[in-house]
Amino acid sequence: MSDELRRHIVALADQCVKCGLCLPSCPTYALDRNEAESPRGRIALASAIATRTISPINRIPLDHCLVCLACESVCPTGVHYAELLDATRALLGPTGGMNKYLRALLTRPHWLRAALWVAQTLGARYWARPGAHLLGSGSRWRAALLMLSESRPQARTKIDRRLISSQNTPKRIGLFTGCVADVLEESAHAALERLLQQLGYHPVRLPAQCCGAMDAHSGDAPAAIRQARQVHQHVTALGLDHILTATPGCLAELRRALPETRVEEAFAFLDREGSTLRFRPLNSRIALHIPCTQRHVAHSDAALLRLLARIPELDLLPLPTEPRCCGAAGSHFIDYPQRAASLRRIKLDQALALQPSQLLSGNVGCRLHLRIGLVEQGRPMPVEHPLSLLARQLDPHPAEPQEDL
Ligand code: SF4
Ligand code: SF4
Repeated sequence: MSDELRRHIVALADQCVKCGLCLPSCPTYALDRNEAESPRGRIALASAIATRTISPINRIPLDHCLVCLACESVCPTGVHYAELLDATRALLGPTGGMNKYLRALLTRPHWLRAALWVAQTLGARYWARPGAHLLGSGSRWRAALLMLSESRPQARTKIDRRLISSQNTPKRIGLFTGCVADVLEESAHAALERLLQQLGYHPVRLPAQCCGAMDAHSGDAPAAIRQARQVHQHVTALGLDHILTATPGCLAELRRALPETRVEEAFAFLDREGSTLRFRPLNSRIALHIPCTQRHVAHSDAALLRLLARIPELDLLPLPTEPRCCGAAGSHFIDYPQRAASLRRIKLDQALALQPSQLLSGNVGCRLHLRIGLVEQGRPMPVEHPLSLLARQLDPHPAEPQEDL
């Protein structure tokens, strides 16, 4: 298997013609101005490790990669960078340190929910932040404590068993809520359900379950495969042929796990199917951060902009594309807190310069990371999922459907 994996990595790396056109799009290259921290450098390193030319001990630039996929989007020869990186991390195995324990907790929503409830009950909001500030800015424990201080577990809406059991219900559609998002994103999932119900759909929630992305990106391929199998079993048991997710970071892994099922990101679906939705006016300045996975995996950034433009009077302020990533990137903001904070600082400076009343982002990790940064800078403001805003502004009286001419 290992030799086969090595050959696969070399074949993928050989697609790169070393033109360097991806370098200006790479946030870590912008941060370090170092070839090793660029897509081209990482592809060369992966190939050299796979051919045993370089020792795996030199893997750090590969671990620093944010998997933002900005490089894949601009590559003229179509290098499958995500596949190359996942294969290389699978070859190298998981990174060490606290990461594996934290990952175990983050990918098990029932454990995570219980741990957060216990922490909140023990007054985490009072001790987690001061405790974090006793630690150095490069400490992973500091990053984890700051995350804890801003994490509020939300109770899951009760599942309607009748819909689950009746596979004959018309316009039945699955809702994948994930792991961390299942615990922290209840308001966004409830908002999506409300929007779908307004369109006459019957959303059916899947059991809380990780899609496997976090394990795959951390190099734990066996764990990622186990998670993907469980997702497949849940979807099969519920008889669903169409799944939506409000978390674009889950999309690629879900599509891999469910090759016979249509899997879409919520904004792409709502933009296409939601022509009868109407929204109430909102006279506010709201900044919008578009997560990397929404731009480069879901390709739903234009759909989201169209949906938000339908809220009358809203002064929507999209953040500049550069830098391409806020630094959250799965567990990157805990594994490499200083690097993540450097990228975040640029994004927050851009956001604050616009003087918005709130910030929107469709990814739970980005939102948590940005919210922590705002609190650290003494400039707290609401950071919300765009679905929550859309549902709040929803006019209960839908528009008449347009006749096809
Ligand atoms: S990954 Fe693509 S864009 Fe980047 S150097 Fe290789 S061929 Fe060029
Ligand atoms: S995925 Fe993002 S961080 Fe990683 S090499 Fe590509 S552009 Fe750079």
